[in-house]
Amino acid sequence: MISEITVPTREKFEIVDVTEEIQKLVWKVKMKHGIVVVFTKHTTTGLIINEAESGLLHDLKAKMKELIPKGGDYLHDRVDSNAHSHLRASLLLNPEVVVPVDQGELQLGTWQRILFVELDGPRHRKLLVSLCPCPEELE
Ligand code: ZN
Repeated sequence: MISEITVPTREKFEIVDVTEEIQKLVWKVKMKHGIVVVFTKHTTTGLIINEAESGLLHDLKAKMKELIPKGGDYLHDRVDSNAHSHLRASLLLNPEVVVPVDQGELQLGTWQRILFVELDGPRHRKLLVSLCPCPEELE
């Protein structure tokens, strides 16, 4: 089964914790065991799994800006001035994360959270959530 959630972002560059929304979907479909694939449908966003501590979120953004600064001599900026956002998404992030589910619970570590990274907001972003039960649940 596949669901879609909307993430309204409020800033140009923002990291949003979407863990609770994903867990609620798992409960809603009553999936006990399997995997959840979260996939972002945009070229200037990404997903990571890490700690949602505010200092770390700040550090992540600062490091991404340092590694791929805005306003380099990018050809894509002739189109829509967001080459740095595409480059950060492509080179530093992934469009998906996969999380195992057991007993209806996301199997994240104590400090792990599912973090959606907006690189060219604010916008309303769509995330696909593919809920894949283990085969024995399908019988
Ligand atoms: Zn672009």
